[in-house]
Amino acid sequence: VIYLDNHATTPCDRRVADEMMVWLVERFGNPHSTSHEMGRQAADAVAASLSVIAETLRVPDDTVVVTSGATESNNLAIDGICRHPRQKRRHLITSTIEHPAVLDVARRLRKDGFRVTEIGVHPQGHALAGQVDLVQLETALDDDTALVSIHWANNEIGTLQPIAAIAKLAHRFGALLHSDATQAVGRLPVDLHATDVDLISASAHKFYGPKGVGLLTFGGGVQRRRVRLKPMLVGGGQQRNLRSGTMSPANVVGMATALRLATSEIEATTEVTRKLRDQLFESLCDAIDPLELNGSELNSDRLAGNLNILLPDVEGEAWMAACRDVAFSSGSACSSVDANASHVIMGLGRSESEARRSVRFGIGKFNTAAELEQAIGLLSEAYERIR
Ligand code: PMP
Repeated sequence: VIYLDNHATTPCDRRVADEMMVWLVERFGNPHSTSHEMGRQAADAVAASLSVIAETLRVPDDTVVVTSGATESNNLAIDGICRHPRQKRRHLITSTIEHPAVLDVARRLRKDGFRVTEIGVHPQGHALAGQVDLVQLETALDDDTALVSIHWANNEIGTLQPIAAIAKLAHRFGALLHSDATQAVGRLPVDLHATDVDLISASAHKFYGPKGVGLLTFGGGVQRRRVRLKPMLVGGGQQRNLRSGTMSPANVVGMATALRLATSEIEATTEVTRKLRDQLFESLCDAIDPLELNGSELNSDRLAGNLNILLPDVEGEAWMAACRDVAFSSGSACSSVDANASHVIMGLGRSESEARRSVRFGIGKFNTAAELEQAIGLLSEAYERIR
């Protein structure tokens, strides 16, 4: 199978897996049991890894919380801020095209009496297609807004959000900004200091690290002092009471190594994935007529490896079923809302039937030109068969 679904997950870099191994098998101490050398070794490894992560994202060391992944991080950020006992504000703003791990948290808050505003994005055809409408955001903000939660880069259409401008607006009203940066971290330089974003979520498996581990940082913005999080997991009081439970040194070392490698390789990865992505689009345009893009133009405000297209006459599911040797995804592969029709594509103003005819490709750093050529052949041949 040729793997072109790198927004769903990426393979673990072998260098990352090698670093992790020793912390699984030989140095297996509990990083919270530091009365002996085994525990202290593990604690030191965790601390050093957290420093690497903090330095890369440009936040203070003690503002990184290790979680099980971006789903947990999004839950902790949004519920944690909104449900903190000292939180006086009762309004949350998010966008219509967030990942379900944000939207479902927001909708549960709404059920519990919070005011929740979901702002829209510019429609397909607009120069800023897929970007949140800043006028809508400004109109929605008020002095009761506790938190704005807008993702950094979209997992389906790859659109990059104007995150620094969003932070500026949110802060003008005294609100905090959380950004689900799961698709951005490791693919773009994510600098919380420069952008003044207060909290971000990420998952290691999106940047060639292990699955089941992620992070939440809350030390980015100048508003850091105002970030108060109500923990979800209570127990042993690990991670400054914010997330109880024994940390996995292997996972933390793996995440830090993956982040360090991915960040140092951003330029090279961007160049390779962009070239392959552009080639994929060009070839598919030859094979499928007419073929339309979902989201922004290819080389503006879009993740370099992302391609999301609208087919003229075939459902994405049918194409995938006819082309089992290429891994790509139709609609929102990880959405719990509806397995077929993507809320992101419909958020662009497309119909449900158009959403069902949309597919996503994610090119990653391990994809090769030869592989891509083979995939294009298989995809074109399968399309010809079913159209
Ligand atoms: N947010 C975004 C933007 C994502 O792409 C994903 C993964 N599909 C998540 C959150 C959830 O990450 P995880 O499944 O690792 O918790």
